[in-house]
Amino acid sequence: MQCPLLYRFRVIDKLPEEPSVAATRGTLVHAVLERLFDSPAAERSAPRAKGMVAAEWRRLLAQRPELAKLFSPEERADEATEGGDAPAGEELALDEEKLSRWLGEAESLVERWFTLEDPTRLEPAERELFVQATLDSGLRLRGVIDRVDIAPSGEVRIVDYKTGKAPKPEFASEALFQMKFYALMLWRLKGSVPRRLQLVYLGSGDVVSYDPEESDLLGAERKLLALWDAISRATESGDWRPRPSRLCGWCDHQAHCPEYGGTPPPYPLTVQPRLPEPRTEAATTQNSPASPPAEGS
Ligand code: SF4
Repeated sequence: MQCPLLYRFRVIDKLPEEPSVAATRGTLVHAVLERLFDSPAAERSAPRAKGMVAAEWRRLLAQRPELAKLFSPEERADEATEGGDAPAGEELALDEEKLSRWLGEAESLVERWFTLEDPTRLEPAERELFVQATLDSGLRLRGVIDRVDIAPSGEVRIVDYKTGKAPKPEFASEALFQMKFYALMLWRLKGSVPRRLQLVYLGSGDVVSYDPEESDLLGAERKLLALWDAISRATESGDWRPRPSRLCGWCDHQAHCPEYGGTPPPYPLTVQPRLPEPRTEAATTQNSPASPPAEGS
């Protein structure tokens, strides 16, 4: 939906992307908010959650050692860039000041969550729920939902944490579409439309809620089918257009993007030749440059 060419680079070419400080902070904050619910309700306090940030970072770093690059001093980062990775057997030194500032930002986001929701009064039915559903058309959808709450009445609430700020109203529909995507999957799997979709913006301290109707989710399904149709056609033709936007500033692939003077790598799939459009009799008579004008026209 954002940029077809970026989709190609990520999904078809599978070009590598560097980890970003912002995305990694999001992963860290999500991990803390998920694990906090392992503790008994009465112990889910802000100081406890903030205290979990450093430990979760160490756990994340152990799983993905390449994240150390984000906090390596400049000269070491240059070395790593030129030579690939750190010399064998040597771990990258961390810029402790930069790291501690970043951890402090993550702690602030975690702390803000307590002004928006009260985890001592919540018992999520699911956290980081992997969901897969197949639409009637055969299109398979997959996603991971941050949190699912189920009320005693059986009503379902889908919750998604965002570490950024709430978007301006003109951009709000994108985030809401993601929530409708989740709701559509749960509807297909469980047979009932989730009661509420809730976006929790930790960056700005906003909570955006939306109660979907069946018609909303059917609209989201139509949009997904149209999107998949466009993806299928572009996959066959190899015609992936760049769609520049403010997101280009965060794109790792400017060097391959014609919008920035780059050239995409050779297309790795076989391009299907496009058959000429069949012509109707009338179109042949009126539009073909090879045909003489009809008598009396
Ligand atoms: S730089 Fe912008 S237009 Fe080019 S691929 Fe990335 S997001 Fe798309």
